[in-house]
Amino acid sequence: MNDADPVEAATRIPARRVIVPEIAANGALRPLPGRDKFVQVGGETMGTTWSAKLYAPSATDGHRARQAIQDALDHVVSEMSPWVATSALSRFNEAPAGSWHTLPLNFFAVLRTALSIARDSKGAFDPTLGALTDAWGFGPSPARSHPPDARDTARMLAHAGWQRLDLDEERRRVRQPGGLAIDLGGIAKGFGVDQAARALKRLGIRDFLVEVGGVLRGAGIKPDGTPWWVALEQPPATSGGEATLSDIVIALHGLSVATSGDYRRFVEHDGIRHAHSIDPRTGRPVGNGVAIVTVLHESCMWADALATALLVMGRAAAIAFAVEHRIAARMLMRTEQGMSEVLTRRFADLLRDEGEAA
Ligand code: ADP
Ligand code: MG
Repeated sequence: MNDADPVEAATRIPARRVIVPEIAANGALRPLPGRDKFVQVGGETMGTTWSAKLYAPSATDGHRARQAIQDALDHVVSEMSPWVATSALSRFNEAPAGSWHTLPLNFFAVLRTALSIARDSKGAFDPTLGALTDAWGFGPSPARSHPPDARDTARMLAHAGWQRLDLDEERRRVRQPGGLAIDLGGIAKGFGVDQAARALKRLGIRDFLVEVGGVLRGAGIKPDGTPWWVALEQPPATSGGEATLSDIVIALHGLSVATSGDYRRFVEHDGIRHAHSIDPRTGRPVGNGVAIVTVLHESCMWADALATALLVMGRAAAIAFAVEHRIAARMLMRTEQGMSEVLTRRFADLLRDEGEAA
């Protein structure tokens, strides 16, 4: 098989498939002494929950870790949430056409990454769809009884578009072109996880698993030398098909995992469910048959954004993009025969069948 070919895995179904990064697999890691106090903490952020498991020298460190994670996430929210009226993001979105805005460091960094993924994905990932996500009921505005009509949609699309954003790298500024609403909902959870991980490392905590709304990052190992095992989310059961998909468990060692699904958050209008990812070509929620996308990446911010990008692209474009950019991705597509699973070569290379991974 060509090295670049994605793998159709549905023909070969072991009971359980595992991913163990090299460094964990070859036993090179030994736990550090004195880091054996297990702590489990959690809280709320970004309209969802966060949680972390970690090993720390003492329970006091565990308590400090909880506060450090919450502070890191609160900080992201205070800059980038559309729900916070005073956030830099909300102020930018309300600002008059032609005004320039100096952004806080983190906001600027996340926006820059979002725009580079927008460029690479030919706009499938677009951080300027705030008006549309809000109108469809996924933003701070109260839910509407009707989805936006064709005229509303066309007007909002005309005000959106990542190409309308001018970044001034040197002065960390961005220009409001008029009526454009930045929405970082497809990338901010991942960035929040990365920030939480940084906060833990600053406290000297190296062995942890941290998660915001199902987007995870793992580092280090447990005192017994085993890694943090995480099972990949499977789509909810429908009629047949997915029963043939075996579970995938991953040793999250220096690795992040993000999953975007068309079923995870939705609004219902006239009995039809609409997913919260918007196709920028139509201005409407995606409905392209891609049910779920999982991306593995060192950076949780990148994993999160790439999962959203692949979900929006649709099957053929997503496969081509993931192969071209060597993304470790797993995609489940809805077909008439049930779910079909596509793994990129990069993802498949990380997989071993249970038993193989000693
Ligand atoms: P989840 O992990 O909950 O499925 P995602 O990471 O896929 O969420 O992000 C969905 C969010 O991304 C939406 O709620 C919205 O804020 C934003 N969004 C929607 N469509 C797009 C898009 N085409 N490009 C970038 N962000 C989007
Ligand atoms: Mg995402």
